[in-house]
Amino acid sequence: MTLLRHTPAGEIKEREALVINPAKTCQPIGAMYASLGIHGALPHSHGSQGCCSYHRSTLTRHYKDPVMASTSSFTEGSAVFGGQANLLTAIQTIFSVYDPKVIAIHTTCLSETIGDDMVQIRKKAFDDGKVPDGKLIIYGNTPSYVGTHVTGYANMVKGIVRDLVKASETKGEHLAVIPGWVEPCDMREIKRYLNVLGVPFVMFPDTDGVFDAPMTGKHVFYPKGGAKVEDIATAGAAKASLSLGRVATLLGSEELSKTFGVEGDVVDLPIGLAATDRMIESLIKTYGLTVAESINDERGKLVDLLSDMEQYLWGKKVAIFGDPDQLIPLTEFLKTMGMDVRHIVTGTEGNYIRDRLTEINPTANLKVGGDMFLLHQWMKNEPVDLLIGNTYGKYMARDEDVPFLRFGFPILDRQGHQHFPTVGYMGGIRLVEQILNLLMDRIDRDVEEHKMELQM
Ligand code: SF4
Repeated sequence: MTLLRHTPAGEIKEREALVINPAKTCQPIGAMYASLGIHGALPHSHGSQGCCSYHRSTLTRHYKDPVMASTSSFTEGSAVFGGQANLLTAIQTIFSVYDPKVIAIHTTCLSETIGDDMVQIRKKAFDDGKVPDGKLIIYGNTPSYVGTHVTGYANMVKGIVRDLVKASETKGEHLAVIPGWVEPCDMREIKRYLNVLGVPFVMFPDTDGVFDAPMTGKHVFYPKGGAKVEDIATAGAAKASLSLGRVATLLGSEELSKTFGVEGDVVDLPIGLAATDRMIESLIKTYGLTVAESINDERGKLVDLLSDMEQYLWGKKVAIFGDPDQLIPLTEFLKTMGMDVRHIVTGTEGNYIRDRLTEINPTANLKVGGDMFLLHQWMKNEPVDLLIGNTYGKYMARDEDVPFLRFGFPILDRQGHQHFPTVGYMGGIRLVEQILNLLMDRIDRDVEEHKMELQM
């Protein structure tokens, strides 16, 4: 008996109206994640309680930590007449009971369909005296009938820039860094690079110290991590910007450029050798710095590992699915390892994604805006040695008896993703280690007795 026994092999029919096992989640989850990267912010879901519960629980299950968020609690009345009254009441209650520095509102399918005007409702909240002095309200439009959780992240990042960054006539020396959707540990690793290289910076959003906060025995409503509002404000005076992962950060980067005159590079997430090189080259271009010996050493260690272990990686077939900003550099990195990426599916649509993935790996089966049912069919028709993707891939991995690397969002059934970075050269080493372990475990499991090797 197989778990996904209704997935057929053989001919693959084009489907337009039906998605089976989507390779994406909905926009507000991304907005919620980005909002929690601001210190003292409370995400607010402008819609029904059900949406908010789903978004909170997905983040909670990924991080095994409670995720705070409020909701406008739409009823039948608000669904028909609009949610302004609910939101105004919510704003007043939230500031008086939970005392956040910022309420970060994201919309939902329902409030977007009704057409609630966030700009007007926010103005009315201030006009009606519902916002205490010094407190802030930001928003992102995140209707989930278009886009994915990555689009929601991008929309909230744009909202952070638009509503929290301050214009400045004079420019400083610091860099405004917008990380794409990566784990808290990845943000910490990128900050380590900037510190080692001597680059002054402000990073936002920043979930380091938010989703991986230590247990202290004391309940703290707002974790000590997150980008501070006063620091984010200084991005308008930055010398330049650096945005990591185009799909999740381009809107924020464009807002920084258009509204505040802060220009910069949008590069891939620094996953793997070449993408990390490109991030560092961007920093060299902006700051004319010399790369620290310790960073060069880390790069050398990754190259050494790749050359030592090439025989286990070369030619191995891989299927991957997930978010485009991860898939692009990850595909490139797998190719650097000599692996053969056969099937690629992302739930997020866009010509840029298609063009980049085609350029990096022109011979793969590629579906941009696809689902996991299609990926499973491809795997049945052309089996692979390794599957990489979020937790939902475990059913395909089990049915096809394929080693499975959990990577991306969400990971609901394993630990470590919030603590051990996969960006940068050391992150690359971790990825190679994880892949090698899976492939070598498979060899140990399947090899004939007389071929068992102690040293591989
Ligand atoms: S898809 Fe729309 S209705 Fe469903 S949880 Fe997401 S925002 Fe709510």
